Amino acid sequence: MAKRKKIIMGNWKMNLTVPESIVLTEKLKKEIPGNVGVEVVLCPTFIDIYAASEEIKGTKMILGAQNVAEEEKGAFTGEVSVLALKGFVKYVLVGHSERRNVYGENDKVVAKKAEIVVRHDMVPVICVGETLHEREDGLSKVVTLSQLEASCKHITAEEIAESVIAYEPVWAIGTGQVCDENEAEKMAADIRGLVQSLYGEKASEKVRILYGGSVTAKSAKEMKKAKNVDGLLVGGASLDHKEFTAIVKNFDK
Ligand code: PEP
Repeated sequence: MAKRKKIIMGNWKMNLTVPESIVLTEKLKKEIPGNVGVEVVLCPTFIDIYAASEEIKGTKMILGAQNVAEEEKGAFTGEVSVLALKGFVKYVLVGHSERRNVYGENDKVVAKKAEIVVRHDMVPVICVGETLHEREDGLSKVVTLSQLEASCKHITAEEIAESVIAYEPVWAIGTGQVCDENEAEKMAADIRGLVQSLYGEKASEKVRILYGGSVTAKSAKEMKKAKNVDGLLVGGASLDHKEFTAIVKNFDK
């Protein structure tokens, strides 16, 4: 079985100014060991990306973007294109639940975003997951897998193999309620199973699957036991340099 490189990704959301993001990056640079075995990815807001890219030079840290426009170029006021991101970030979040639920992005839009990201040689982090309501109705698996299938519609087997899928149950995001490692493992295995049936064995073994939702240093240690979970997408806790560093170390060990 292919060895998958683990990832810890911090999604800073809309929480930091440029000077604040520089201060946080400086702290992480000092605290995260240089020989860490996981990929450490920071996702600042668009305006912070340039400063963060300067700040992480000479470290193993990598940048991701929180979103991208579905079109490459043109009259789309307020949007940021893949062309602008290219060269600064490796990863791009697509279909984060806040984009889906607050800004009304549907699977069709997410599929276009995932496609444009891979066609520009960056890695989409395709976010999927059920709401509390859907979970209570016993629809977690059906909702998550159907979101995934629709969001990957334009991606080939080779491209999905290089992509990242983030299982982020909406009821666990920013709520302090963590999905336990057994539940996350079950969903990650179902996600891998879907990738296998749609794209074949090779792609399913290579694609990396993250868990996201109220991750802490403590839950990172537990989540490490889930063999289909290749990393963590961290929101709130990624703003605290000590907690984020502990998450990286606990998942790396
Ligand atoms: C997220 O928004 O991707 C996330 C996982 O947030 P939090 O860790 O704050 O739940």
